[in-house]
Amino acid sequence: MENHHVIPLITEEQISQRIEALAQEIAERAPQEIMIVSLLKGSFMFTADLIRALHRAEIRTQVDFLTLSSYGTGMASSGKVNIVNDLTDAVDGKYILIVDDILESGRTLDFARNLLHERGAQKVEITVLLEKPGKREAEIEADYIGFTIPDKFVVGYGLDYANYYRELPYVGVVAIP
Ligand code: 5GP
Ligand code: MG
Repeated sequence: MENHHVIPLITEEQISQRIEALAQEIAERAPQEIMIVSLLKGSFMFTADLIRALHRAEIRTQVDFLTLSSYGTGMASSGKVNIVNDLTDAVDGKYILIVDDILESGRTLDFARNLLHERGAQKVEITVLLEKPGKREAEIEADYIGFTIPDKFVVGYGLDYANYYRELPYVGVVAIP
């Protein structure tokens, strides 16, 4: 694909510092053993760093992955949420922490939370690396938020544009020529 220009918004160092603080916040409130439900693909990098920070905060985790789709490959949401790849583990009776890359309309997280409640999770909390305020369409808030960002399309640190840019160690804004 053509090369867009990505303007850094949140640096690698800011991300890692914030994740250490988030893990401390989580450790203050969560039980000592929690199950992570990581929403793919966007949250794989955040999840990998967060569970290591949680380990340093003395929280044990089990990790499972759930792939939901609402976006296509472009920059606009299609609205409807589907299960693309389901969890492999049971969630009943467990304290779940859903980990997602970004909370925008809230439809993805609303769907995930309802699914986990239906399957008998004891408690479901949510952490997101990023949130865009003022865009909510579902009644949902995250319990632990990394950064609140302006209403711009961002990439990097797991977030993509057409499946590119996930490898960037920072979060940036795609400049459209
Ligand atoms: P929501 O369901 O809250 O509207 O959207 C959440 C999902 O949309 C995120 O998990 C992410 O995959 C995608 N998304 C929302 N905003 C952005 C953005 O600025 N950049 C990227 N790459 N994905 C986004
Ligand atoms: Mg996502």
